[in-house]
Amino acid sequence: MMQVDSLEDSTPVQFLKGVGPKLGDLLKRRGIATVDDLLHFYPRTYEDRRAVRSIQSLVADQIVSIKAQVLKVRSMQMGKSSRRIWEVVVGDSTGRIACKYFRVPYKGYFDRFEPHQQVRVVGKVISYRGTLEFHHPDLHAIGETEENVNQLVPIYTELEGVSSSKFEKLVQAAFNKPIVERLPFWLREKYGLIGLEQALKEIHRPPVEQGDLFMQLKSPAQNRLIFDELFGVELHMALKKRVTQKESTAPIQAVGRKVDELIASLEFELTQAQLRSFEDIRNDLKKPHPMHRLVQGDVGSGKTLVALMSAVLAAEAGFQTGLMVPTEILAEQHYKNTVARLTPLGFKVALLTSTVKGKERIAILEDLKNGLIDVCIGTHALIQDDVEFKKLGLVIIDEQHRFGVEQRNGLREKGRSPHFLIMTATPIPRTLAMTVYGDLDISIIDELPKGRIPITTRKAFETKRDLVNGFIREHLQKGRQTYIVCPLIDESEAMDFKNALAEFERVTKEFSEFKVGLLHGKMKAAEKDQVMRDFRDNKIQILVSTTVIEVGVDVPNANIMVIEHAERFGLSQLHQLRGRVGRGAAKSFCVLMLGYALSDVARKRAEIMEQTNDGFKIAEADLEIRGPGEFLGTRQSGLPGFKLANLVRDVKILSEARKAAFELVERDAEFKAKEHLPLKQWMTAQERLLIG
Ligand code: ADP
Ligand code: MG
Repeated sequence: MMQVDSLEDSTPVQFLKGVGPKLGDLLKRRGIATVDDLLHFYPRTYEDRRAVRSIQSLVADQIVSIKAQVLKVRSMQMGKSSRRIWEVVVGDSTGRIACKYFRVPYKGYFDRFEPHQQVRVVGKVISYRGTLEFHHPDLHAIGETEENVNQLVPIYTELEGVSSSKFEKLVQAAFNKPIVERLPFWLREKYGLIGLEQALKEIHRPPVEQGDLFMQLKSPAQNRLIFDELFGVELHMALKKRVTQKESTAPIQAVGRKVDELIASLEFELTQAQLRSFEDIRNDLKKPHPMHRLVQGDVGSGKTLVALMSAVLAAEAGFQTGLMVPTEILAEQHYKNTVARLTPLGFKVALLTSTVKGKERIAILEDLKNGLIDVCIGTHALIQDDVEFKKLGLVIIDEQHRFGVEQRNGLREKGRSPHFLIMTATPIPRTLAMTVYGDLDISIIDELPKGRIPITTRKAFETKRDLVNGFIREHLQKGRQTYIVCPLIDESEAMDFKNALAEFERVTKEFSEFKVGLLHGKMKAAEKDQVMRDFRDNKIQILVSTTVIEVGVDVPNANIMVIEHAERFGLSQLHQLRGRVGRGAAKSFCVLMLGYALSDVARKRAEIMEQTNDGFKIAEADLEIRGPGEFLGTRQSGLPGFKLANLVRDVKILSEARKAAFELVERDAEFKAKEHLPLKQWMTAQERLLIG
């Protein structure tokens, strides 16, 4: 057995006093393999033994610690399912409150509690249907000796056989090693951060006078450790960005006479936000290293035009542009639009999709290779092996979230480090964008073109169905069109299809005097495109659809969007769907049909939809409701799971961490200075945690 005083960061936990091979194994399986892992296994919360709160004084949404007596322990069947919920009812002289568990923390957990026992409950007070209760609080039997201590006791997530207090002992034993500071002094001083050793010691044993700060996650120790988590990610981004900045490419520089001509030919005025974004792009293109820019803008904010202006600038300087979009119909729409605007300027535009075949395709490929085509618009067909450009200078990806990384890069590889512009209509809050798209520069179009009539959104229940139908009919008779979207009712496509089909039949019967179309996930791409085309050409007046409804497609004549079972959609999705209307001269409406058993969250979502059309505000609200993990989808976010940091709550620390990371890379990207050496080691260890 190793000596305790020779512990290092990488020492396996099982060499700690009190840990044998068996416990060592269990800990390892839970991600605590080394002594250092143990030090970074932070308490989940703290037991505040400084003051006793009465049950009567509890208020919803506060994290509290109370002392009470167990009154009842029981488990109940949940409805018809086989799931059980456990309940421990506790009380003091002022009242009683239930502690509910929807899953058992571990086998035998509840055997420890029996009536009359004194316990400590630590958790968040939840208001459920007007009653206060705890969900999954930490529950501890109170020993006789420990209870007089005036302090904050760390609560660790328990594992089978490892109680919170056992963890406390293990962690304290792990401090028997030197703790290497990883942040240089200048950075800690500048950003007001305490040392790592102090931070770790305090987080595992809070100084009693900082009790309130700790309970609110605002202590210097928590601040330091949150900073570290975010700094790790941002440093990674800063380094990645530096790599792309070092890459060299041909600058795209033109007077912009053709851009001026394009602007002069428009039947409307550009918005300030469009002009600003274009200026950002123009500045990037001048540089001898490739642009990596994301344009974020709400649906209908006019991103396409910014893309076209950039393509014109590139063409004027003698470079080709490739514009890739996710669907055929969107490619056709962009193509039509681009031909109309760019042909008069003397530029040649081509369309390349999987429906372009045979001689036509060969001719386009030939022209592309010979540099006769200035702008080529297409789908995935653009990244096929036999597609070659003569001088691809600019790559634009529209609706980027619909593409995988490989597809996005596929088009880039057709040029020599071409400038790269990606566009998205799924706004994510600025703070989050900094992290998720941390290696990109971002332009935001946060302004809609003048004269857009805001969409009016209203929620409606089934009792108002006749009214809604009458409203739709009235507009159809005026020559308008309507979308009706049904939700995914199940994970299964079959159910989804059945549901859409039933809805289609209902709508066909109700509106027998109009033509109704159906669009669902089981249709082939070509069939879907055909239905979308028919709708665009007004051969269909009502389009019943599942959520497969195409992104970015402009049917300005459609001015009503009905979303069935709107309570089943997330906020961002509702907003995306609503963006299909409000594109024409007529005022548009969005009706959210709601089921009766509405949860608070669903009601709140519907209300936010009624209140605002601003995609950024909606994204903020969505992020708040769902939290970053779900909001982004873990796969898409590429972010490591944070232990302490929370991207919504810790926005301020995030922007400081970002600033610090870029500053560090500016000073010493190779970590040559001695004081930066620990950082280099830390980053190498972090690499394995980061995707991408
Ligand atoms: P998105 O940002 O959703 O891709 P589009 O680029 O498709 O938006 O633009 C939506 C519509 O608005 C198009 O018909 C486009 O021609 C029009 N448009 C773009 N910019 C302006 C503007 N500044 N003023 C008025 N209409 C505009
Ligand atoms: Mg678009």
